[in-house]
Amino acid sequence: MIKEVFKPASIEEAVKLKSESIYYLSGGTQINWAPAQADRKIKGKPAIEKVILVQDLLSREIKKQGSDLFIGAGITLQELIDSSQTPGVLKKAAGYIASRNIRNMATLGGNIAANRPDSYILPCLIALKAEVIIADEGKMRVETYIREEKNNLITQIILPRVDGVCVIDVALKSSGAYPSVTTAVRVSDKDVVVAIGCVSDHVIRLKEVEPGIMDGSLRGESLALAVADRINPKSDLAGSAAYKKYISGSMIAHLVALSQKGAARL
Ligand SMILES: Cc1cc2nc3c(=O)[nH]c(=O)nc-3n(C[C@H](O)[C@H](O)[C@H](O)COP(=O)(O)OP(=O)(O)OC[C@H]3O[C@@H](n4cnc5c(N)ncnc54)[C@H](O)[C@@H]3O)c2cc1C
Repeated sequence: MIKEVFKPASIEEAVKLKSESIYYLSGGTQINWAPAQADRKIKGKPAIEKVILVQDLLSREIKKQGSDLFIGAGITLQELIDSSQTPGVLKKAAGYIASRNIRNMATLGGNIAANRPDSYILPCLIALKAEVIIADEGKMRVETYIREEKNNLITQIILPRVDGVCVIDVALKSSGAYPSVTTAVRVSDKDVVVAIGCVSDHVIRLKEVEPGIMDGSLRGESLALAVADRINPKSDLAGSAAYKKYISGSMIAHLVALSQKGAARL
């Protein structure tokens, strides 16, 4: 339970207040969610009792600068969906969070920092080569932020101009279920990115299969098998490890085929 709240007047003040036992609070949908707190207890992490309110300090605007799109970290997922500047594939990813009430509160910065292994949005951001600006360390790839389990204050998300076609998909057992797998693939003439959630502690990029997709040696069944071989998911309520391996492989092979056919271009 939250027992102490800090309301800094500036981003600099927020960064100074931060410590191991004090957490940033943006939309609060993850921090205040009882199952998320229970999960911390299971993992032996301390309960969150002190928070720093940051959403009012963070921009919610989307601005084009040169060929990059700068998105304020305080933007809610619903505002992201409603903006005409947001790429369609990112709108789709945010829309997978089914409750509009949650989307009205949850922020994009909070979704990245929450670093959930089953995030719908993180695979898409990784495939789009998104970067974050963090208050005290500058710019870094979203991929690095989550891999290194950073907790620095995210102020902006940058979507650089990328080529090719980006497609996403999720495996759900029912409309209200947690996902069994979340995936995103982007294929262009110059590069391939494959990202996947629900099969590890974090959303991961499957760099090992990307060169094979690029040179055409991995496709269809061989690609599905290579993906299944590369991941090591755990069995849980969302599906057995064998099911997650199978569905991850077939979804990624399907998405690669779709993007190579030129599904909606970026
Ligand atoms: C019913 C329900 C369903 C949900 N379903 C999903 C789902 O399907 N997929 C999914 O991914 N999430 C889901 N969530 C979790 C949550 O809603 C999202 O991850 C949301 O985007 C988190 O954003 P927030 O602003 O509410 O984060 P908060 O709860 O405020 O914070 C989340 C974490 O990020 C940190 N943080 C917040 N903002 C920043 C920032 N700008 N910089 C650095 N650190 C920051 C906090 O310290 C905290 O550790 C669900 C939540 C609920 C209650």
